[in-house]
Amino acid sequence: MIVAKRKPIDEIKEMLKPYNKVLVLGCGSCVAICMAGGEKEAGLLQTELQMAFDMDKVQKQIDTITILRQCDREYIEEVKDKLTQYDAILSIACGVGVQFTAEVLGGEKVLLPGLNTNFMGATIQPGIWMERCLGCGDCVLDETGGVCPVTMCSKSLMNGPCGGHEKGKCEVERTRDCGWVLIYKRLEKLGKLDLLKEIKLPKNYGAVKRPATIIHEAYQTVTTEKQKDEETKELKK
Ligand code: SF4
Ligand code: SF4
Repeated sequence: MIVAKRKPIDEIKEMLKPYNKVLVLGCGSCVAICMAGGEKEAGLLQTELQMAFDMDKVQKQIDTITILRQCDREYIEEVKDKLTQYDAILSIACGVGVQFTAEVLGGEKVLLPGLNTNFMGATIQPGIWMERCLGCGDCVLDETGGVCPVTMCSKSLMNGPCGGHEKGKCEVERTRDCGWVLIYKRLEKLGKLDLLKEIKLPKNYGAVKRPATIIHEAYQTVTTEKQKDEETKELKK
């Protein structure tokens, strides 16, 4: 899931200054799990903002709606009419949700980010999330015992640890496990230490062209036809 953290209240208040009618738009998926942007957090933020503006004697209407996912057109479309009634929407989804909601609304609404999006990660234990994948587009977990060298090694090294690791800890931060020690231990457990003998080529980070796009095979012809239609229309203009 995507892990994010709410922006400081003063930063949010500053963003909202020019707008009178504001909607706090929650997202009921990843950011709800990491307790940053779900329905409960949207309600708390609404109350906090309303109280803060009242104390400043500034009149503002602040409402809230939460949809299941702000990265899915169908959920945004369902509340589109309501969303367009506000001067600004403070989205507390990840950066994807903020951008995509703005796109679905035709770029005609002010969308503001209420969160800072941090990483893709997992719930290590209640209240603790940790990064596990950097979305490199060329997964090597089969060669590293299921531990990601790109993410778990602070330097994203591909062929073993640097000389700075000590007692299993990382040179960059001594409290953190060295990613390559974790890889070694996992491969040892799996009886696959042989995999370490293969030299891996430097990672081609250019493999993912940004912004990355994936079209499922089942949709490729449809999309190509649609693109052709749009191109023909453009030419006829
Ligand atoms: S908008 Fe972001 S936080 Fe919400 S479901 Fe999609 S990816 Fe997760
Ligand atoms: S190698 Fe690491 S960063 Fe790349 S896709 Fe696999 S888990 Fe993600």
